[in-house]
Amino acid sequence: MAEGKASGRCLCGGVSYTVDGPLRDVIVCHCNECRRSSGGQWHASAAWRDTVEIEDAGGKLAWYQSGPKSRRGFCRECGASLFFDHDERDYLVVNAGNLEKPTGLKLARHIFTSEAGDYYDVPDDAEHFEAYPDILPMPEK
Ligand SMILES: [Zn+2]
Ligand SMILES: [Zn+2]
Repeated sequence: MAEGKASGRCLCGGVSYTVDGPLRDVIVCHCNECRRSSGGQWHASAAWRDTVEIEDAGGKLAWYQSGPKSRRGFCRECGASLFFDHDERDYLVVNAGNLEKPTGLKLARHIFTSEAGDYYDVPDDAEHFEAYPDILPMPEK
């Protein structure tokens, strides 16, 4: 974990955020939803919701209701995929690809490997799960 606040932004910079707390290690999701939404594997970190401050002065952040209790946040200007939010979780999933380096994060898991694209092999750099396993615990605040 890098010292100071972590920060991230979309491609155009219209939506940015800071995290005043720990980030969870990265889960690579290969599910159909993530692939269709982002164009590929989605690299998910997460932060306690009350530690995330989103700056969106131009009103570029939009939310797509992707499930009955979940939504995906994206920039309506550049199309970048930024967030995944679920009603029953007190943390916000953030796209690790948007974070400024160094993130200090490690790759923890590959999930939904059964839905991975058929043009790549899931690398053996972390544990594999065919679907959604138990929740990866959040780091202490
Ligand atoms: Zn943008
Ligand atoms: Zn997914």
